[in-house]
Amino acid sequence: MKFSTEELIQGIRSGNKRLTAKAITLVESKKAEHREQAEELLKKIMPFTGNSIRVGVTGVPGAGKSTFIENFGRLAISNGKKVAVLAIDPSSAVNKGSILGDKTRMEELAKEENAFIRPSPSSGFLGGVANTTFETMMICEAAGYDYILIETVGVGQSEVLVADITDIFLFLKIIGGGDELQGIKRGIMEMVDVIFINKVDQDNLQKAKSTRLELKRALDFIPPKEKDWKVPVLLGSALHNEGLGDVYDKIDEFISLKKKTGRFETVRTQQSEKRFDYWVQEYVLAMMKRDNSMEEAYVQHKKNASAMVSNPSTEAKLFVEKFLSKDSD
Ligand code: GDP
Repeated sequence: MKFSTEELIQGIRSGNKRLTAKAITLVESKKAEHREQAEELLKKIMPFTGNSIRVGVTGVPGAGKSTFIENFGRLAISNGKKVAVLAIDPSSAVNKGSILGDKTRMEELAKEENAFIRPSPSSGFLGGVANTTFETMMICEAAGYDYILIETVGVGQSEVLVADITDIFLFLKIIGGGDELQGIKRGIMEMVDVIFINKVDQDNLQKAKSTRLELKRALDFIPPKEKDWKVPVLLGSALHNEGLGDVYDKIDEFISLKKKTGRFETVRTQQSEKRFDYWVQEYVLAMMKRDNSMEEAYVQHKKNASAMVSNPSTEAKLFVEKFLSKDSD
């Protein structure tokens, strides 16, 4: 990285979007020399973090997430807030394709001085991308963004990742849906804090109301995630800017409630602990991969696992034990 840590921090703190983006690229890198600078940077910005509202946004492709985030972001900005948009894209880690990143997105929001949009990380960039959305969020907080909107598609594990790093989880639903077909409804319903039925703008108010009724019935069978909070099901149109103010108010209400009950801090503490565990695994793996003397053993155990000579879990355990006892031999 051709910028010093101090230059990056000054850039972040003074609202320089180019340097903020550079800092994010740095923390996304898995290369050892980048990680060292990334850790130094993250350590130094820590005192400036923690002050945003972290919002997860999910829904099937086509539900209107980009449209929603664009207009919701502009609403927040008109209320004097700064908004950052990040994405966790489940497809990019697996293949080169991307569900979230390919189309031109949020053009109007991108023009705003008080908005920062970070496309989802592409795999292979700078030696591989870790799951660093949390760290990216820290940088955005140090840059003074009040709302961090983290978008994902309701497939795979991505919404679990989002729920693990946000304060509030918003589900965008379309009438009738298609999301039931994908079998994602129940999982999401257990995680969600606010539901917004989108695209209620084409003579479909009655249908929207019956979808709302269905959702409310389904919610009745799910144990409440937050005590004293009944998940609201709101109706509106992201495209025509209808109902977004209601979402804005509900987010406020939910965050105030969580702060009052102490849940806000408790959950954030738990989330940090999860991040700690995640990084322990990352660093242990990285150390093992760097140790060339272990390569032969690694290949052999993996071969045993793939040939089902014994259990993959047994082989993994044998390999890790060999690695850990290496120096004491
Ligand atoms: P995403 O895949 O969830 O990000 O969905 P997009 O925001 O890209 O929206 C998918 C399509 O639905 C686009 O053509 C949008 O213009 C359209 N759309 C989004 N919100 C609304 C809405 O409130 N009403 C209507 N009629 N169309 C919408």
